[in-house]
Amino acid sequence: MKTRCDFCYRECSLGEGQRGVCHIRVNRGGTIVTENYGEVVALALDPIEKKPLYHFRPGSYTLSVALFGCNLSCSFCQNYSISQKEFHQQRPNRYISPEVFIQQAVERNVSVSFTYSEPIVWQDYLLDCARMAKDEAIPTILVSNGTFSKASLTRILPFIDAYSIDLKGDESFYRRYCNGSAKPVIAGLETLAKTSATVEVTTLLIEGEHTLSDVKELGTILSDLGIRVWHLSRYHPAYKLNLPPTDESFLQEALAAAKELKIPHIYGGNSRQDQDTYCPECGALLIKRFPHQTKVFLKEGRCTCSHQLYGDMESRGLI
Ligand code: SF4
Repeated sequence: MKTRCDFCYRECSLGEGQRGVCHIRVNRGGTIVTENYGEVVALALDPIEKKPLYHFRPGSYTLSVALFGCNLSCSFCQNYSISQKEFHQQRPNRYISPEVFIQQAVERNVSVSFTYSEPIVWQDYLLDCARMAKDEAIPTILVSNGTFSKASLTRILPFIDAYSIDLKGDESFYRRYCNGSAKPVIAGLETLAKTSATVEVTTLLIEGEHTLSDVKELGTILSDLGIRVWHLSRYHPAYKLNLPPTDESFLQEALAAAKELKIPHIYGGNSRQDQDTYCPECGALLIKRFPHQTKVFLKEGRCTCSHQLYGDMESRGLI
């Protein structure tokens, strides 16, 4: 008999022994299990700005974890060796229980991030960790492609404080490059934007594949959804895609086009562009980002003009 997985929008229906598109969820005796539960393939202490998150506890550190697996197969994947199924058996891992992982974050007084590969496909581990993090008052971050199922988003929402979500392109782009769909990502962002969590969106700009009119279209969708922070990041060749890197000048044009829209905070990633945060009301400098340091000029999250900056400006995790 077939059993349906509800971890992501694909909702794979799997017979005994069959694997889902993600390759790590498998039907064992009528129950779908995450075969690599707790088998950590990446663990690191990162500056939170690397997620990228610019409006959640700026200048702090976050303990990042990944298990193997992804439900998309983007030809330009930057983390293919821990996400794409052909690398599954080659990747060394070590078992780290949720208790041990959270204890490491408690000892360092930092937030935790579920990141690098696609945490939605190992969300049972993510949720076990995130529940424990909540008990310890540890902030939680999800870095994801955003292809939730409705059921998974409902499950995850109460336990995550900040989201960094990729919107990679329009529907045709997802079909051509990712074997995926933009629809569940946009539906997920619509829900997330209405919550109290901090939500930031990233688009990896591939010059020649993304045009300025694509940037305007995607930005209009995000603006209509109420998204407040958008990172436009420069592409570098990776995995199967070998196009030239996106030029700084194209990124600059894209940023100029995006800034005409109603998204208050737009940043250029993987680039020499200004990384600082300014008040959307009066233009004052609110957060200055140096390569290895962040300075915050806010009082209780507010500018001197009294504007409350979007996000969570607490300073926990400044180790
Ligand atoms: S996580 Fe997604 S891709 Fe993997 S089995 Fe479940 S529904 Fe399918």
